[in-house]
Amino acid sequence: MKETFKLVATVAAGLESVVAKEVRALGYDCQVDNGKVYFTGDVRAIITTNLWLRAADRIKIIVGTFPAKTFEDLFQGVFKLDWEAYLPLGAAFPITKAKCVKSRLHNEPSVQAITKKAVARKLQQVYHRPEGVPLQESGAAFNIEVSLVKDKATLMIDTSGSSLFKRGYRVAKGGAPIKENMAAAILALTNWFPDKPLVDPTCGSGTFCIEAALIGMNIAPGFNRSFAFEAWPWVDQSLIQAVRDAAEMEANYDIELDISGFDIDGRMIAIAEQNAAEADLTGVITFKQMRLQDFRTTKQNGVIVANPPYGERLLDDKAVDILYNEMGATFAPLKTWSQFILTSDEQFERHFGRVADKKRKLYNGTLKVDLYHFYGQRIKRQQ
Ligand code: SAH
Repeated sequence: MKETFKLVATVAAGLESVVAKEVRALGYDCQVDNGKVYFTGDVRAIITTNLWLRAADRIKIIVGTFPAKTFEDLFQGVFKLDWEAYLPLGAAFPITKAKCVKSRLHNEPSVQAITKKAVARKLQQVYHRPEGVPLQESGAAFNIEVSLVKDKATLMIDTSGSSLFKRGYRVAKGGAPIKENMAAAILALTNWFPDKPLVDPTCGSGTFCIEAALIGMNIAPGFNRSFAFEAWPWVDQSLIQAVRDAAEMEANYDIELDISGFDIDGRMIAIAEQNAAEADLTGVITFKQMRLQDFRTTKQNGVIVANPPYGERLLDDKAVDILYNEMGATFAPLKTWSQFILTSDEQFERHFGRVADKKRKLYNGTLKVDLYHFYGQRIKRQQ
């Protein structure tokens, strides 16, 4: 099979630089495009990036790209690619996604059907199977995706399986959770380090706190889940185990962390605790039922990360205005604390009573949101 692969990590718009940094930290050079981070690597890279990337959505193999203006172009282009380098005889190869953007070929179901036919024809040829008889697809699944953008076709195989935001620890989520990879990306955009206190005063199901604990302990975000590539015959099970074992060795379970989550709703605190337990973090995070208005601390240099209710989501507008106002009043005395607040409310700063030092546009699902940065005053930390 293949030695090196062209790979792409897909990522929510606005967070490409965070994923690029993570990919480089794992030792792979990369190039960034909208919603994509491209890199090259071997089988170990597929395993490592799936296991370790905190902010990416999925890792996909790029099988090939070519211009396609007609169905004949598409069929021939797909047929020419070296599918046999990835798909053994017996593999299941559903075309799970077809996307057409600004292209002459725009009927997605037809693009999907032609792609299926061309891959099948290729496999029938290389594995000497008769053309008229459908291939058996009882083996491991290789989910194929085809996208046409401005008449250029890209064929990909998904290596992740379910999206990487699904870490496997969230047994319950409550009303309006933030995705795990989005929470990890936001933490990467803050100035939090594991030696600083971290507080999520509207913690809901506990996502920010749990992701922060995983970062603080250097625990691989994918340790608790499986991936599509694990069923592929050419991915050596002992290599997977070696990468997982190395991750286990790198974890630092003894580090002292100061991470707290509050929520006004006791049911959310129970859910957050259950999720933390599922991530093997029982006792690491302090969860407490509390109104954020009651938060007081004498600690210094902490970081607040919050995804409070937005008008559209959980509360009516008036109640949200009042809540933001009370947040501003509650956090104002915390001079050395930095605050990072995610909301879709464009009037947030007005109600909060402070103009942000920085604002970053992000998408929470399809909803446009801003991450408001407020930096604390710097005081020298004692060594
Ligand atoms: N990031 C969270 C979702 C937060 S939703 C997650 O990933 O699950 C906003 C949360 O704010 C809700 O759980 C709600 O109960 C809580 N909340 C609303 N008003 C609050 C208040 N005054 N004090 C503390 N929490 C509050």
